[in-house]
Amino acid sequence: MAENNLQEYQCPNCTGPLEFRGDVQKMVCIYCESEFDMSQFSDNDRKKEEKTDWSQASAQTLDAGAQGMTEFECKACGAVMVSDGQVGATECPYCGNPAIIQSTFEGMNLPDGIIPFAVNKDTAMNKMKEFYSGKKLIPDSFISNNRMEKIQGVYVPFWLFDCDVEGHGFYKATKVKRRFTKNVTENGQQKTENWKEVEEYAVSRSAKMRYEKVPADGSKEMKDEYMDSIEPFDYSKLTAYNSAYFSGYLANKYDESPEDVKERVDKRIRTTTEQSVRETVKNYDSVNTESCNVSINNGNISYCMLPVWMLTTRWNGGQYTFAVNGQTGKVTGDMPIDSGKSTKMFMLTLIVSLIITEVLAYFIGGGDFLYLAVAAVISIIIAAITVSSAKSSMVAHNKVEAQHYVVKGSFKLTGENDRYVRTYEERG
Ligand SMILES: [Zn+2]
Ligand SMILES: [Zn+2]
Repeated sequence: MAENNLQEYQCPNCTGPLEFRGDVQKMVCIYCESEFDMSQFSDNDRKKEEKTDWSQASAQTLDAGAQGMTEFECKACGAVMVSDGQVGATECPYCGNPAIIQSTFEGMNLPDGIIPFAVNKDTAMNKMKEFYSGKKLIPDSFISNNRMEKIQGVYVPFWLFDCDVEGHGFYKATKVKRRFTKNVTENGQQKTENWKEVEEYAVSRSAKMRYEKVPADGSKEMKDEYMDSIEPFDYSKLTAYNSAYFSGYLANKYDESPEDVKERVDKRIRTTTEQSVRETVKNYDSVNTESCNVSINNGNISYCMLPVWMLTTRWNGGQYTFAVNGQTGKVTGDMPIDSGKSTKMFMLTLIVSLIITEVLAYFIGGGDFLYLAVAAVISIIIAAITVSSAKSSMVAHNKVEAQHYVVKGSFKLTGENDRYVRTYEERG
């Protein structure tokens, strides 16, 4: 049997990965030193796929035909939005399409909670201007004032995930005890090599923590990286739904169920848990993660609506969305690049750096062709770097890790074991 297969078996004592040791014909856990007979294991004991059961409170609904409610549907992207009749929709905030159809209200699930808008339209427009300022390559007409006027306040549907998590991490860690040199002969040549004496440890850590309100948007039309990058929301302002909060805004109906987004949330929680447990392994010169088992318990999902100012502009066949957190004013967005402006920037930078480098090259090389050629190449590189850094400043998505949703003070180290394995020497 290949060793890799055996690694899939877990230690019944500590959940660490087991290794098969030929000399004793046993499965051995290097973390807690338990030994097990091969006969104890069947295929059922293979490391189980990690699953989580999430439960969800049953939702209240606002029934079809409710007073004054109107529905809007975007024929281009399929977004369905609801308003209380105080506000219309002339274009889709998600895809910028003007083909919005008004239809009768067909009912909706009411959120368990809502964070009301705290940033008004003028502030959102100012945030947008700030965001655009200094971006040298945006086409002028893209940021015209009457375009910005079209920004819309949308309550975006979110699923919030709460859970208790246990993580068991297993690591191979080393400490360098001593460095020394060795004289060796290679191909008849004498040389000195650097060597070190290394102590290896089998390290395990167990920890518990609680996550609350890890968000995932329930809107297919909304790109996930947009919502991730305007997080976090201040959940202390989360209140019970009241129809008054909808007045003047659109509310997007969810079209992704918790089932659809669960995998993403799961992965986010697992990654963050693995990192947090890993960070408790300290005072080693190297740490390699062998495995980390994460179990998610008491999972609970609630449905909320969070405030976002949105504007999507179509430009030369591309779609550019701008979003502002309607509670905190945090901004994210994509911008088109004006090719005329970027060519101009390239040429200007090239001319200026050519003048400077060629003059320098002339004084150093005394008119030697090689010096002048090198100066020209350097100038082209400078111009290319200038333009590419201006281009990369045009996209701004900064992801917030699930770390933010670990309940303060809930992280507890529940087990730690650092077991000496062996000492060996290696180059380096
Ligand atoms: Zn063990
Ligand atoms: Zn649309």
